Amino acid sequence: MNDMNNYGEKSCEMRKYMYVSEKEEQYRCCGRQQHREDIIVKTGSVKTGGGNFTMIAGPCSVESEEQIISIAKAVKAAGANLLRGGAFKPRTSPYDFQGLKAEGLRLLKLAKQETGLPIVSEIMGVNDLELFEDVDLLQVGARNMQNFDLLSELGKTGKPVLLKRGLGNTLNELLMSAEYIMSKGDTQVILCERGIRTFCEHTRNTLDLSAVPVLKELSCLPVIVDPSHATGYARLVPPMAMAAAACGADGLMIEVHNDPENALCDGPQALKPDEYLKLSDKISRIRKAIED
Ligand code: PEP
Ligand code: MN
Repeated sequence: MNDMNNYGEKSCEMRKYMYVSEKEEQYRCCGRQQHREDIIVKTGSVKTGGGNFTMIAGPCSVESEEQIISIAKAVKAAGANLLRGGAFKPRTSPYDFQGLKAEGLRLLKLAKQETGLPIVSEIMGVNDLELFEDVDLLQVGARNMQNFDLLSELGKTGKPVLLKRGLGNTLNELLMSAEYIMSKGDTQVILCERGIRTFCEHTRNTLDLSAVPVLKELSCLPVIVDPSHATGYARLVPPMAMAAAACGADGLMIEVHNDPENALCDGPQALKPDEYLKLSDKISRIRKAIED
């Protein structure tokens, strides 16, 4: 009875979010109701959220020392503040390049030493945790968004986690996955919209940009957008990246490759360094234009 009364009192404010209002109660760690203030995630000295915009860039996969160092230098010069590079790759086909694994992480660390950029890489299983000790931001890929054992273990590390939305997951499911991490004591979670599966076949996925303002209403976590996996085509990355910046995202994760035609993974969606530089400048101008 009491519960019903409380619910009645709240319903005015919450009617606009009616379809999620009951679930909102479950967002004990990340919910806007619990923390009015934005959570700021710190990856090394790089802040994300609460007005801090983060540019993550780099290749889909680390392929060689020369490749990762040259891309790292180029994206740094273009204004990126975090370097991405996959070492463990979740490929649809077991016959495709699976990543350089431990060696890939070693090369990524070399690129960090060379440029000073903190590094981001995808962890696929709890058994690899030790290998990721020096990785600054642990990425949970779309395919692992509901690997609850992995989420709980990451939550115990207290390290920053970049949690990507699953291919067919709702925003409620994404937030509950964030809860798996945060309920273990880790407040450092960045959410990432990377496109979902729909009937549209002109893009690799469909970028659900309304996820950005909705997630920011419901939770206090930073939300970034990955227009590379969302579209699958380099020519569509700049327009969608600009749209993401304009709708209030706290950052962008963009795949950049020095030789996209010969990339071992996701070449068609990779920007070349000069294209990234151009885009980065436009993003800065959009951010200025929408400043309060
Ligand atoms: C990636 O970022 O390289 C990746 C595999 O992304 P997603 O998990 O979103 O497919
Ligand atoms: Mn990729």
